[in-house]
Amino acid sequence: MFIVGVTGGIGSGKTTVTRLFEQRGVVVVDADVIARHTLERGSQALQAVRERYGEVALQADGSLNRAWLRAHIFANPTEKQWLNQLTHPLIRAEIIKQLHAATSAYVMLSAPLLIENGLQQLCQRVLVVDVDEATQLQRTAERDQVNPQQVQAIMQAQASRQQRLAHATEVLDNSGSSADLPPQVEKLHQLYSALALQ
Ligand code: ATP
Repeated sequence: MFIVGVTGGIGSGKTTVTRLFEQRGVVVVDADVIARHTLERGSQALQAVRERYGEVALQADGSLNRAWLRAHIFANPTEKQWLNQLTHPLIRAEIIKQLHAATSAYVMLSAPLLIENGLQQLCQRVLVVDVDEATQLQRTAERDQVNPQQVQAIMQAQASRQQRLAHATEVLDNSGSSADLPPQVEKLHQLYSALALQ
């Protein structure tokens, strides 16, 4: 199994970039999607959350009140640790399951917190989608219709640009226009396809 980790800060362009790899037949496992499913309605993890916090953590339909939980763990580091201990092993197990089920020549693991959560250990290569902080701020604020301060708070909770780049085996510069991406992706796709055959 040849695994390429893809990471980058909020709004750096991971989704935009991985979509181009998908168009080339590459299976992309998305850690964010898996993380969301871990706490879906009826799951064991959600039951554990309910037992710890009570109904306040749930919405009327029994699904997770994500806004409440996000605010709660942001204000309480011990609770954040408890939640991570609950969910991280489940997320990791599901990531590994999906990586093994992939049938493409190589598989990508896309995770905003690849480095922060030690997931790069599962990967043979690490591709960092890189833009400067001003571009991250601008593109995210525009996409999510939020103010720059909210984006900045998320950026501060993530690894710095330098920390991320220190783990990169390849860097995809996404500071240009979207039209600049396909040629870079094509080159990387050829590199990874060749490495996966070795
Ligand atoms: P997150 O970590 O928040 O999930 P992401 O890294 O997946 O973000 P994207 O959603 O792919 O980032 O990109 C962020 C925004 O920037 C999107 O609205 C996307 O359309 C836009 N974008 C991506 N690349 C470019 C580019 N080269 N030029 C202009 N806009 C871009």
